[in-house]
Amino acid sequence: MAVRIKPDALDRVGIYSQRLQLKNIVLVGNKDLDPILVERVHTAMKENGIEILQHFKIDSIDFNQVLETFQALPQNASAIMAFGGGKALDVAKYVAFLARLPYIAVPTILSNDGFCSPQSSLELKGKRRSFPSAMPSAVIIDTKVCLNAPRIFWLAGIGDVVSKITAIYDWKLWAKANKTVIDDFAALLSDATVFQLMAKPDHDLEGIRLLGTSLMLNGIAMEICGSSRPASGSEHLISHALDQISKKPRLHGLQVGVASYIISLLQGQGSERIARLFDTIGFWKAIQEDPLDKDEWLAAFRLAPTIKPDFYTVLSERDRSEDFAQILNTDVRLKEIFKSIG
Ligand SMILES: [Zn+2]
Repeated sequence: MAVRIKPDALDRVGIYSQRLQLKNIVLVGNKDLDPILVERVHTAMKENGIEILQHFKIDSIDFNQVLETFQALPQNASAIMAFGGGKALDVAKYVAFLARLPYIAVPTILSNDGFCSPQSSLELKGKRRSFPSAMPSAVIIDTKVCLNAPRIFWLAGIGDVVSKITAIYDWKLWAKANKTVIDDFAALLSDATVFQLMAKPDHDLEGIRLLGTSLMLNGIAMEICGSSRPASGSEHLISHALDQISKKPRLHGLQVGVASYIISLLQGQGSERIARLFDTIGFWKAIQEDPLDKDEWLAAFRLAPTIKPDFYTVLSERDRSEDFAQILNTDVRLKEIFKSIG
């Protein structure tokens, strides 16, 4: 896998494609992408003799529409380049997987580990489902572009990295309950990404580089052990439940960040580390500006253990709903970011 994480990498996508011997690229980007960024990619390709055969502009992750994109792929495509964030990356990864084509990830925001994970989140009959998909052959991150994106995406990306603290603990609980072992290397890798990020959680070029690297290594940890466990535990179940029931789901990384802090209190580990990091980067403050609905979170917590049967976490041990409610009502930081509606 080729990795380029640096300022102005966007203007070099043509050079990188040439070096990877990719001639005919299919671009899969978000519909609402900044036209200036799109223009930069087209120019960089043109200057290096790389042809963009087609440019799909994505605004839906509906499974049937994704299949239509797959069917519309030109025969002579040599790679699929995903450009942007969220939906475009989920679609591109899955289409590349179906077409058995190399997938090049060029995220313009770093709000979660989706650009480099072996799963795509798509909508089937109106419900979100995970599908196996391609790992990237190359990851190209322009740190300047990501730094210029709205700050909330950066906060969300950090929330997604922090969730490894509770995910790995849940994974260990699973191993204990099942009298088995976890993949220690994947867990160590995932754990290391948290420390790497915490060493410099700054909203600057170097901080963005560390965040991009951390998110990428989280995805690779999942690929190594063939499971989402090193990157996702009960905090992710709560976020999935919120995506199903919330009137206004927040960014994935914001939801898992908050959930991770609450779960760490239930697990009795990691809370101080998370709380202090979130103090430093202004995570709580950003959530406070658009407070969360307490009733929705209580409902999501009850729903969470049913989302993935056989996915053992701290929530599988016994019913913790009352502890959860008490934490929401008493924790000084959480009291600030939740409001009761109705
Ligand atoms: Zn995540």
